[in-house]
Amino acid sequence: MPLAAVETDIKELVEELNFKQKVDRSLDLIEQAYKEYGDALVVANSLGKDSSAVWDLAKRVSPKIRGFIVTTRFKPPETKQFMAEEVARCPELKVFSNDEKIPDKLYETDPDKCCDILKVAPTRQAIKEMSVKCWITGLRCTEGRTRTNFKEVEELDKGLLKLNPILIWYEREIWEYLALNEVPVNPLYAEGYRSLGCGPCTKITQGADERAGRWIGTSKCGGECGIHTKPLLNYQI
Ligand code: SF4
Repeated sequence: MPLAAVETDIKELVEELNFKQKVDRSLDLIEQAYKEYGDALVVANSLGKDSSAVWDLAKRVSPKIRGFIVTTRFKPPETKQFMAEEVARCPELKVFSNDEKIPDKLYETDPDKCCDILKVAPTRQAIKEMSVKCWITGLRCTEGRTRTNFKEVEELDKGLLKLNPILIWYEREIWEYLALNEVPVNPLYAEGYRSLGCGPCTKITQGADERAGRWIGTSKCGGECGIHTKPLLNYQI
């Protein structure tokens, strides 16, 4: 069955598959995508724990699989340092950013616009420059209120498949995988963060919603930067 035809009951998989079955399923999905797309398969690496897990899974399928990191001027120093270490360890990770001038504190006055400029635009650039036909993300459906309706394989843009191979993993299973495989992680997790983003828009929170600490105090609270909800190929500026 081609990857684009994969259609499953996500809730059932989240609850019924055990850790090993989930790891095997993720590896199978990535392997199938690599067979179909070869070099046009690329991993989006946000330097968070889910990306670290998915990046490691992809490298187990093939060390040749490439990746991209979108960074911004507002990423915390710890994330910038971790990025430098990851790029040194894996030179097949390419970094994209947008240095365009923006109004002061745009993240407070219009966070959607700020994310559009600093995150969505460089993601579009990465997709174009790296000739991506299928991109892999670290999205998980148990992360928060905005992530419950995604599928393992999606085609928001015609001609650009999105594979979410760890969609069905629990937060605990991510940490289980990272610990068991000794995968390097962003040091900010040691401070208590559960979801990482730009410094001004990320706080430490507790509770069921992992993403509750993102964009606190704005209409975007616990929400999305836009790379998973906006078109990346067929868009108008
Ligand atoms: S997360 Fe905050 S600072 Fe970063 S791009 Fe979005 S609004 Fe701007």
